[in-house]
Amino acid sequence: MRAKVDPLEIIATSPLARAIASSSVGKSVATKLGVPPTFDLRRGRTLQGGAVSLARLDNSTLLGATLTLLGVEIIDPVVDTPGARTPGESGRPVPPGYEGRLGALVLDLTGLRTVQELEYVRGVLRPAIRSLERSGRIIFVARTPESYDELEPRVLAQGLDGLNRTVAKELRGGATSNLVWVDPETSPEALASTLRFLLEGRSAYVDGQSWRVGVAKVDQDVAQTTRPYDGKIVAITGAARGIGAAIARTFARDGATVVGVDVPASGEALAKVVNDIHGTALQLDITLPDAGERIAEHVAERYGADARLYAVIHNAGITRDRMLVNLDEKGWAAVLDVNLAAQLRMNASLLDGRPGGLADGGSIVGISSTSGIAGNKGQANYATSKAAIVGLVRAMAPKLADRAITINAVGPGFIETEMTAAIPYLQRQIFQRSNSLAQGGKPVDVAETIAYLADPASAAVTGQVVRVCGQALVGQ
Ligand code: NAP
Repeated sequence: MRAKVDPLEIIATSPLARAIASSSVGKSVATKLGVPPTFDLRRGRTLQGGAVSLARLDNSTLLGATLTLLGVEIIDPVVDTPGARTPGESGRPVPPGYEGRLGALVLDLTGLRTVQELEYVRGVLRPAIRSLERSGRIIFVARTPESYDELEPRVLAQGLDGLNRTVAKELRGGATSNLVWVDPETSPEALASTLRFLLEGRSAYVDGQSWRVGVAKVDQDVAQTTRPYDGKIVAITGAARGIGAAIARTFARDGATVVGVDVPASGEALAKVVNDIHGTALQLDITLPDAGERIAEHVAERYGADARLYAVIHNAGITRDRMLVNLDEKGWAAVLDVNLAAQLRMNASLLDGRPGGLADGGSIVGISSTSGIAGNKGQANYATSKAAIVGLVRAMAPKLADRAITINAVGPGFIETEMTAAIPYLQRQIFQRSNSLAQGGKPVDVAETIAYLADPASAAVTGQVVRVCGQALVGQ
């Protein structure tokens, strides 16, 4: 029997096709055909190559102070005004640009009050976008809409959401745009972890998103460290492979002692992950009624009766996809139990003050999904469980605030793991490209975002859901 040949597979893997795709004519043809882009995103704790330009309205000072705290040098923005344009070769006026490539444009719009001031925003965006390097950054910082009493600044703060999402869609070459809403009382120390995350390659696959940074006391040394988990114990469920293994490695890189949890059947893979990073393994099915107690016992036994978890990362998750008309009670219950009920039970025990449980000042991070946020055919069980994680984070954040425990979630889009490798090839190709970065994310992209959210320096970030989806078309 002749093997089936998939034309898309040939296009995607042939070196000749890739060379053609890199030419300018080829690029536009390739875009139509859907060849994956030939560039890699900047990842890890790496900063942009080009300069960082700070644009701010007269009365905005927060971002300048935050960049100084992070030791980031800044240059003045180039502004497109009618007077700044010079005639180009064709005689048509050309807007000004930066000398060399720009690494990032950060916009402090905390002082934005009038519609007229938006012209300055346009004026600084135009030259910056023209000069932005690959994997460059546009970062908007504005006050939360609800922090204003007056109508005009309030609606403008909301308007920036549409601007940010549009800029993200128009950027090329792996560059991203994101918006951070801050409280009027947010300090540079409280904002620093978010700004550092967005500038660095750690935020590679976070694009077109907006979230909030509130108020919390963050010491300067905490805001400045790049080893935030030194001396801290972090439990990660589903750590044997995929995103969970990447989370374990990322936390260990940043200093954490990792307790990796996974089902006994994955014991060997789990041991390999935790041995590599000098952590400990706990073979445990998290759907057991006493799973939380067992995690706490493991921590107290292995690290001493006074030891407490600094963070719990609820990563373990399963899918049992079926259209609702075909979905029986077993497929329904299995997904809701692993992805949701187990998490509720574990949180209850780990938060009750027992030895080995979660410390005050600690952090919980869950994993939602774009399927949960937007709904997805064939995933009624999964989407319900993942939307519930959004509800969980929002409901628990205010309750945990007086213990200074933060709770957040990430919403991964299409991430290349064994779970998504099971998706039929053509469908997978479509998912990979249906986002502004035109490629699938990597487990490390989700891991880096979780590590940012759980960071002690992110104490002012709670109740938030940050999508790690390359601005997936789904649900935007
Ligand atoms: P994965 O490759 O299937 O890994 C999940 C891990 O969790 C596996 O090691 C699995 O063990 C373990 N696990 C499952 N049930 C468990 C239980 N009852 N007790 C303990 N461990 C259990 O999945 P992934 O793609 O890395 O996804 C990780 C998380 O991200 C999940 O919550 C998923 O829903 C979410 N997510 C993923 C994507 C994506 O594109 N990959 C997108 C959105 C959200 P066994 O498989 O060996 O049983």
